[in-house]
Amino acid sequence: MSVKRHGRYLAELGEWLHSAKSLEELYRVVRRFMARLFPGSAGELYIYSNSRDGLDGVCEWNRGEALHAHIQPDDCWALRRGRVLRYGAGLADLTCGHVDCNGERDTDDLHYTCIPIIAHGDTGGLLHIRFPEGSSQSTEDDDRINFAIQCAEQISLAVANVRLRDELEEQSTRDPLTGLFNRRHFMNRFRTGMAAFHKHRHPLSLVSIDADHFKKINDVYGHDAGDVVLRNLSDTFTSVIEDGDMLARVGGEEFCLILHEQDFAAAHAKAERVRQAVEAMDINYDGVLLPRVTISCGVATADKDATIKSLLRSSDEALYKAKDTGRNRVCPVLGS
Ligand code: GH3
Ligand code: MG
Ligand code: MG
Repeated sequence: MSVKRHGRYLAELGEWLHSAKSLEELYRVVRRFMARLFPGSAGELYIYSNSRDGLDGVCEWNRGEALHAHIQPDDCWALRRGRVLRYGAGLADLTCGHVDCNGERDTDDLHYTCIPIIAHGDTGGLLHIRFPEGSSQSTEDDDRINFAIQCAEQISLAVANVRLRDELEEQSTRDPLTGLFNRRHFMNRFRTGMAAFHKHRHPLSLVSIDADHFKKINDVYGHDAGDVVLRNLSDTFTSVIEDGDMLARVGGEEFCLILHEQDFAAAHAKAERVRQAVEAMDINYDGVLLPRVTISCGVATADKDATIKSLLRSSDEALYKAKDTGRNRVCPVLGS
């Protein structure tokens, strides 16, 4: 393949990689391109897991057998040495642990190339390729490997970008303490839910939840204990709600549930199950069993004139009523 053609293919690969919206899409691009750019080759792509305790096998092409789900950096001599390994071209190479060689380790018949992939100065993963007729010392082979290295650079940059984008998205939608959706994301989802309600008129309910006398926990046991209680509340809510229910932490000790396709009776029953589950919670903090925690809930269901503002106001008013009438209870909107 000519250098000019390499440039054109690299540009095309880059364009596709950078249009990928998710890692899954990106790996599909890699699979398609690698099989086309290196006809007859087989290979695998490994990417460091988020915890960086190893590399995950994320895609393969023409391999014909299952990919290793996970490998360790020490399994690969290219990763250990921090540079490309052309197995079979050196004086006496040692076979990488991740290579399936039917027990024929450290033999001269085996040929493959391992390329550490580097983005923003960090090793992001490994591209492993077996070329069709094995490796040789020819110029053609050097060109092929240089081209593969350039492809690996494009791939690693694209993976790093998608990961960064996912991370930023995660940070902008999640509450770091509980991992629940934050207020901003809740409002976006609520807006979409309300628009769908007016279009299809399927029931839509809202439950406002507030922990009772939460300040006391902070005052008596400290802020860290309060945080532990918030995390326990979040876990308990999550264990009771169902797929499709949307739970968010909308304030300090305040949460909100959007219940699609659920009328007032269903929403009230669900809020009651959540309240009972909270009441039954045992929370240990620093070896001490904390006093029982309770929550108050306000339930409101959209009617034909409902707006985001009016439904929020209704569930908040119902919550105030629950507080005013003794806490640890679920209340409907005032007057209903
Ligand atoms: P009520 O039953 O009327 O809701 O009483 P309350 O004490 O729960 O309500 P109040 O609004 O007086 O106090 C809420 C407390 O929640 C005050 C604030 O310090 C605490 N808080 C808010 N966010 C956090 C947090 O992230 N961690 C901890 N530990 N406490 C928090
Ligand atoms: Mg509050
Ligand atoms: Mg409270």
